[in-house]
Amino acid sequence: MTAQTTQVPGRSDTNRPRICGHFIDGSWREPADVLQRHAPGTGAVVSTVGAGTAGDVDEAVRAARHAFDSGIWSDATGTERARILHRVADMIEANSALLAALDAEEGGKPIRLSEGDIAGAAALTRYAAGLAVQMHGTTYTNHGADHTGLVLREPAGVAGLITPWNFPALILCQKLPFALAAGCTVVVKPSELTSSSTLEIARLYAETGLPDGVLNVVTGDGRAGQALAEHHGVDVLSFTGSTTTGRKILTASQGNLKKLSLELGGKAANIVFADADLDDAAEGVLFGAFFNNGECCVSQARLLVHDSIADDFLAELKSRVGRIRVGQPLDHATDVGAMIHPGHLEAVLGHITQGTDQGAHVVAGGARASGPALDEGLFVQPTILDGVGPGMSVFREEIFGPVLTVSRFHDVAEAINLANDVDYGLANSIWSKNVDTVLPVAKALKSGTVYVNTTIDAPPTLPFGGFKTSGVGREMGQAGFEEFTELKSVSIRTGKRSGTFAFGGVHAPRS
Ligand code: NAD
Repeated sequence: MTAQTTQVPGRSDTNRPRICGHFIDGSWREPADVLQRHAPGTGAVVSTVGAGTAGDVDEAVRAARHAFDSGIWSDATGTERARILHRVADMIEANSALLAALDAEEGGKPIRLSEGDIAGAAALTRYAAGLAVQMHGTTYTNHGADHTGLVLREPAGVAGLITPWNFPALILCQKLPFALAAGCTVVVKPSELTSSSTLEIARLYAETGLPDGVLNVVTGDGRAGQALAEHHGVDVLSFTGSTTTGRKILTASQGNLKKLSLELGGKAANIVFADADLDDAAEGVLFGAFFNNGECCVSQARLLVHDSIADDFLAELKSRVGRIRVGQPLDHATDVGAMIHPGHLEAVLGHITQGTDQGAHVVAGGARASGPALDEGLFVQPTILDGVGPGMSVFREEIFGPVLTVSRFHDVAEAINLANDVDYGLANSIWSKNVDTVLPVAKALKSGTVYVNTTIDAPPTLPFGGFKTSGVGREMGQAGFEEFTELKSVSIRTGKRSGTFAFGGVHAPRS
């Protein structure tokens, strides 16, 4: 195994070895080739991880299959699985400073947010532990005195988990503890841009005594992900990433028709009605748009505001946006950090230019952020574009940067039409104090999540996922857990059969 010694900011016990290698069948494997990661905030090399091949993925899937078939995890009691998950949750909390620093440094996200992600990762792991204990099927005895119907809930098998770069530890924990709680064995392929926290969390699992082969991690780029999606030894695949990659995974996974959950892109709207608490709404709109640098699937990137309050509300946003601090990801004063990579910085700036070319006008920001602490990094000013209509690309396309577009509406029907008039359907927010407005609008919105007088708020209990091109399946909550299970119906007839099997009669419902 290759180990690097790296100064990890945010920790006193620095010079901790940063693992570089795949974790397969309980041991760290030397990769044939490696990928270097440059910090978005400074450009410095911060980590080096294995460039996984199809061969590495195959080895990991075989290890997971062997562990699954042995029953060492799939037949373990819910209490045993929960015990491991609770221990890991404790260890995530104990290692939170390191994990938060890794995600902030590699991902460019503000450290305060990253600390929140790690707290969320521990909470998700604990929640999943509870599900492990409660995993159960159902029994039916209403089909005649001599019949019992059992619906068994079983682990789905080998789970492949592919994660993106924007919430590396958090999204890992929206999947991994749920899969393990269900009794699956797992192969994880993290984003090549932010692999370190996943490797650290794998190390924590290994320290709990999780049996070899139950959790495997292969790092690498899309080629490793593609190999995992294609592999016939994978029974269920949970993917989070772009809609473009989601479509490729749909095709790649068809060989063995694996069970799929796809958490994809979004283009959420913040709908602000005239009867909202406008102070709350202004804070919420800015938070929703610029949270995680705007690099968030549920970024509330479109503001739809009632025209009777639009000018005043926009003036309020303009006065507050200047307080948002763009800065180095590891600085606790930073609100908005650095874009994930140079190509993405260019893409975000390109979207702004395209928006203004199509008639939008810049109310705030609109350019690359510069300054003594910023010039080596990939920073964009928090940007507000007004005068945006549904025909413009900035209204429809996922920008994935700190860019808020503003559109006005005249009535409820127009607000709903504008919110729904995009291909995505992940999340939207409603700001109104009137229940007669809130409930009908919440029902009319075509998105998997609706926030009311709040934004980007995802407790582990609530299933999360998309309508339309935002995805298939759900993550978190009971529904997210069930994605990693299969149902088996067992139909049992007891006693001596009174008649013979009669064609046409066997399936007839009994009264
Ligand atoms: P991405 O699709 O580029 O990559 C995601 C993961 O897929 C990475 O691990 C990558 O290596 C892998 N991958 C790339 N090509 C692949 C292929 N052909 N087959 C299999 N795997 C492949 O996405 P990203 O840039 O890392 O993340 C940003 C996107 O993720 C945005 O569109 C965002 O909206 C979306 N996202 C969605 C959610 C959600 O829950 N719906 C959450 C976070 C991010």
